[in-house]
Amino acid sequence: MTTATGRFPDNLATVCMLQLDILTALAICGAGALTGAALLRPSLAHDMGSGEVLRISRGAYALIGVGATQIVLHPSPLPLWSLATLSYSTVSGLAVMAWAMAALSGGVVSRRLLAPMLALLLLALLAVLPLGVRGLTWFVAWGLSAASLLVVVMGRRLVLRPRGLDEAFAGIVILITAVSSLLRTIYLFTWDGPYEPHLLHVPPYMHTPYAIMYGVLSLVVNMLVFNILGSRLQVKLRRRATTDALTGALSRPAFAEGAAQLMERLQSGKDRLAVIIIDIDHFKQVNDRFGHAGGDAVLRMVAALLQAQLRPEALLARFGGEEFVVLAPVADVPVARGVAERLRCALAEAQWDAIVPGLEGVTASVGVTLLEPGESVERALARADDALYRAKHGGRNQVQIGLFAA
Ligand code: GH3
Ligand code: MG
Ligand code: MG
Repeated sequence: MTTATGRFPDNLATVCMLQLDILTALAICGAGALTGAALLRPSLAHDMGSGEVLRISRGAYALIGVGATQIVLHPSPLPLWSLATLSYSTVSGLAVMAWAMAALSGGVVSRRLLAPMLALLLLALLAVLPLGVRGLTWFVAWGLSAASLLVVVMGRRLVLRPRGLDEAFAGIVILITAVSSLLRTIYLFTWDGPYEPHLLHVPPYMHTPYAIMYGVLSLVVNMLVFNILGSRLQVKLRRRATTDALTGALSRPAFAEGAAQLMERLQSGKDRLAVIIIDIDHFKQVNDRFGHAGGDAVLRMVAALLQAQLRPEALLARFGGEEFVVLAPVADVPVARGVAERLRCALAEAQWDAIVPGLEGVTASVGVTLLEPGESVERALARADDALYRAKHGGRNQVQIGLFAA
């Protein structure tokens, strides 16, 4: 068939053989979802915080996958129970996906409402089943709209404040799913033809876009979930490798790396680097009185208090059991001394009783020096350590300065 001008085909999609069949697209979607369920092995998560996302996504994929692939087992036209299975699995699978998106966006996820929701959807399906294809059509249209809005609400962080390209993509996919589901429902209100067995009642020119979308959606979502979790895992692993697990302060190697970068950056400016060693006084007694867990709580608090006193560019590392090292850009010796005093006071004035009940106070002795031009951090650290030794012998809870002796 051609248009009035006789030059262009009336239905370009048909002529180009692009007219995709919706049920085939749904079967592809199902196969993609089943593949996703098989690939999303929760073992990938270990204790890295991705387990919840993977387990829930897996459940959603399994639901969608089983429901959408079983249609290939039947000769056309599909029996009503097969269509009902497809309808239920698609709607409930998308609704379960809302929980996965909530977990993916970092929200606190309670799974308590999942089972009642699935039961409610089943009741709704049974209620519309006597109406045949018409009932299923309305069930799917309303169900998908509601479920996709739930996905938008529960995954709203990905839509509104995505961190990185993968999350932004996930947000776009969430919006596309919602808009296409709502459009489906709106079109259905204007539908006056017979009810189609594929349950999609949009104008014919929309069939191909919908078919493509349903065909690729589960694979795209699967890929995005994998990518997002993968990059988060990388960040976590890097943080684990560069920070001390107990206090979050830098590890020695990460400190050395950061120090080299800081020195390079300061080369052109006027600022110098203060090297500060902080050693908690009589920490052994804290352990003896309050146990190792009490000691650990003190170490965490010490790191947090020190960090809170420092500018973002300064480095805080944990060097030994109860020994911390700070590297901070300063103008001169008095400023370096001021920073060291600030750190000492932050510990001496904290409310330790609130952290470890019964603990009256924690103090630290501090040695500080300036890194001389061309000097290695190790040499400056040795000088700061000498100063720390003097602070300990001078009665503890004080700052001593290590002056450069040429
Ligand atoms: P001083 O004032 O001379 O520094 O005395 P101190 O008791 O602080 O120093 P000492 O070196 O004798 O003891 C340090 C203690 O720190 C001994 C060790 O058991 C404890 N320690 C080291 N690492 C950890 C840790 O990760 N957690 C806990 N709770 N204690 C630790
Ligand atoms: Mg000590
Ligand atoms: Mg020590």
